[in-house]
Amino acid sequence: MSKYCGIMIPIDDDVPRRVLAIYAHPDDCEVACGGTIASWKRQGAHVEVAVLTSGDKGTSDDQLDSRSLVQHRKAEMERSSEILCINYRHFFDLPDGSLSAGDVELETLVVSLLRRVRPDTVVCPDPSALFFGQRYINHRDHRVVGELVVDACSFGACLPKYFPELGVAHQVDTLFLSASLDPDTGIDISDTLDQKIEALKAHKSQLGNSFEWVQESVEARARHAGTQVGVKYAELFRKFYFG
Ligand SMILES: [Zn+2]
Repeated sequence: MSKYCGIMIPIDDDVPRRVLAIYAHPDDCEVACGGTIASWKRQGAHVEVAVLTSGDKGTSDDQLDSRSLVQHRKAEMERSSEILCINYRHFFDLPDGSLSAGDVELETLVVSLLRRVRPDTVVCPDPSALFFGQRYINHRDHRVVGELVVDACSFGACLPKYFPELGVAHQVDTLFLSASLDPDTGIDISDTLDQKIEALKAHKSQLGNSFEWVQESVEARARHAGTQVGVKYAELFRKFYFG
């Protein structure tokens, strides 16, 4: 329930047919929407996930070799994909921190992906989210991916005069923006929270020995989101319809 006016955020129980989730780093999708895509999969959706970077800088250990870190992270993604029953995961292996807005190669990559996969529903980070309270500043890679995907869904991929060399234009129906400061839609993940936590635990390189902390913090966040939509556990999004 909203802390301001008592209005519940509505729950969305529509099941998409074909989903593409596009994120920057190897574990971003699991953190942002792991319960949602597991739930959609259980209800018959086809789900593909694209990860733009290799995760080569995702460590605080300066002695750790980047190449072996990347290998570990790829194996972790494969294990996590099995847990979430993801149909296909696209890897692009760009360096962490290298994503920037207005990069034509990146625009090309995202438009090409959308026109090949042809999803009805896309999930990505909310590009407008920068500060989360006083403790977390949203990584630039997340914001850039969100902006690239929003632009591609609103004109780059759906209008044929943009990138005519990249195949037949494709109109996405619905966009779900995760980690939004202004969520307006909830997805019930009460049946898939355990699957989300197990998938996150597959990303061992990011956890160290903090397995219990992951369990507790992910559950607490999902429970708090659940109170805003009236279910036990939820993930929240800002939703946008095209057409
Ligand atoms: Zn990330």
